[in-house]
Amino acid sequence: MTDRFSFQVSATDGRARTGVISTPRGDIRTPAFMPVGTAATVKAMMPESVRATGADILLGNTYHLMLRPGAERVERLGGLHRFMNWERPILTDSGGFQVMSLSSLRKLTEEGVTFSSHVDGSKHFLSPETSMQIQRQLGSDIVMCFDECPALPATEAEVAQSMRMSMRWAQRSRDAFGDRPGHALFGIMQGGVTPELREESAEALKAIGFEGYAIGGLAVGEGQEAMFGVLDYAPGYLPEDKPRYLMGVGKPDDIVGAVVRGVDMMDCVLPSRSGRTGQAWTRRGQVNIKNARHADDPRPLDEHCTCPACTGYSRAYLHHVFRAGEMISGMLLTWHNLHYFQELMAGLRAAIAEGHLDAFVAEFEAMRAQGDIEPL
Ligand SMILES: [Zn+2]
Repeated sequence: MTDRFSFQVSATDGRARTGVISTPRGDIRTPAFMPVGTAATVKAMMPESVRATGADILLGNTYHLMLRPGAERVERLGGLHRFMNWERPILTDSGGFQVMSLSSLRKLTEEGVTFSSHVDGSKHFLSPETSMQIQRQLGSDIVMCFDECPALPATEAEVAQSMRMSMRWAQRSRDAFGDRPGHALFGIMQGGVTPELREESAEALKAIGFEGYAIGGLAVGEGQEAMFGVLDYAPGYLPEDKPRYLMGVGKPDDIVGAVVRGVDMMDCVLPSRSGRTGQAWTRRGQVNIKNARHADDPRPLDEHCTCPACTGYSRAYLHHVFRAGEMISGMLLTWHNLHYFQELMAGLRAAIAEGHLDAFVAEFEAMRAQGDIEPL
């Protein structure tokens, strides 16, 4: 165990990297996928089950937790790790993105954002300083800078103006974070789809200095092609010896494409949210368990998967419990999806370590191209 936060790249293959982020709460193998525990729970999963899927780290949402149950309450109860019974690393976002997407009556100034809670309408203020305080109260291991992600569509001038304010906020976040050994603060690169703005943002962040760097402003509806277009150059502006985090990504093919382009960390609600709406992700793509073709099918979702949903239950059962609205439906499909995402990350890590990433990606694409198994 270490008392410091550090990152070590152990192998590269093209632009892809594999390595380990070390923290006092445990190691994070990269490339890493972080399940999202929005309200201090990965929905439908026990923390030990999340760990059993292979997750090294969870993401918590500052916006949700500050509104309910409140950061001060979580701090009084021993911090987020103790509160939710997850002793391994936790990354918290800054709250900024969800203020923009979820709250009403927002007022944005250079100082910060005033907004009304989507839960009870109460008034709140988030700024670089208050976001750092809340993330410290939660006890987060990896803290994200408070930034602004401009609503799309936006002109290049609007994106530039917003990015420059986010860079001023990044300095304020760094100043407010203080000296916290073992904890990390990540800067967030903005700049939309303009290479010059991405580079300007990266230079501003590097001048401040962070323990890791996120690529922000993507996965907000711009489409995979535009996202990969930015990822073709943006990671190259960031330091090679620090982790690179792509926020809010994504689908399995987004993840593979991001890792190939040099991304080390990702998070997404997709595996858990899909699990509650009857959608499964397998090596052969997406399966809609609601579909009547599964009603008499005794086969597992994926015969090669070792998760509890695939080793213990048939497609027919999964179809039945979804249709019947039984809670075990969301539990089993979420477990399977998280297991599949973590297996994908393990496969990517091994392929990079062995220098076989091209072959791994070709196999990944070939399996998906086959589509789901034929109905009986
Ligand atoms: Zn499975």
